[in-house]
Amino acid sequence: MKILIATDMEGITGVTTWDQVTPGHAEYARFRQLMTQDVNAAIRGAMEAGADEIIVTDGHWNGSNILVEELDPRARLNTGSPSPFSMMQGIDESVDGVIFIGYHARNGTPNAILDHTWSSKTVANIWLNDILTGEYGLNASLAGHFGVPVIMVSGDQTACAQVVDLLGDMETAVVKQATGRFAAECLTPEVSQELIYMTAARAVGRLVKGDVPDPFVLDTPVRVAVEFFTSDMADRAARIPFTQREETRVSFSAQEMALAYNGFRAMVMLALG
Ligand SMILES: [Zn+2]
Repeated sequence: MKILIATDMEGITGVTTWDQVTPGHAEYARFRQLMTQDVNAAIRGAMEAGADEIIVTDGHWNGSNILVEELDPRARLNTGSPSPFSMMQGIDESVDGVIFIGYHARNGTPNAILDHTWSSKTVANIWLNDILTGEYGLNASLAGHFGVPVIMVSGDQTACAQVVDLLGDMETAVVKQATGRFAAECLTPEVSQELIYMTAARAVGRLVKGDVPDPFVLDTPVRVAVEFFTSDMADRAARIPFTQREETRVSFSAQEMALAYNGFRAMVMLALG
């Protein structure tokens, strides 16, 4: 059984501020260690419940946060960027289930640590076939394109609730209770890593029994609409052929989700200028 652990950093144990997830800041070194430990806890749990192959993908910033030298040696690590599938690099039909570690809520959500959607500087909202979603929805629908379900998420209570709301009843590890964008009541690493370990074991146990949400498969063609924060961002994103522009919103249709995913990424890269 092959598991892809798709990671981000905002939902890692103890994280409440941008400084903690920003390379170059003094605080960052502590939290990349904690990120690695959260991931190791998930690897331990998944392995104990029957996984025999684990790919970890580092999905935050430039994809080089996880400390490879401290990662459980039973896993392999996708690191660096840009890679063909970014936060979901490694996904294909051979994967049996996806675990989200360190995830965060979509932009604009109350009581959600560092809520944003893919790029905190550019993207206000994204809709996939008129479903308002966040990174979790983009990544889950790419997994769905390959027929793979998401089976677990860790993060704050709001991120976990948004993922369950979109994808269905799955195992969640709530490592902090957010009371704002930059404030939360956090479990300590010892406690949260035990929680992640137990939750991953339960999630893979449910996967073995077939008791997990269906893969999140969007109808095709997939309609992608992105609302940017400012009109110059939309000016640049709309340079991509076959897009439609309406004020700060730029949209396009893609034949299938893998194309939609990368069309979205191209728009965001252009929008950043
Ligand atoms: Zn991130």
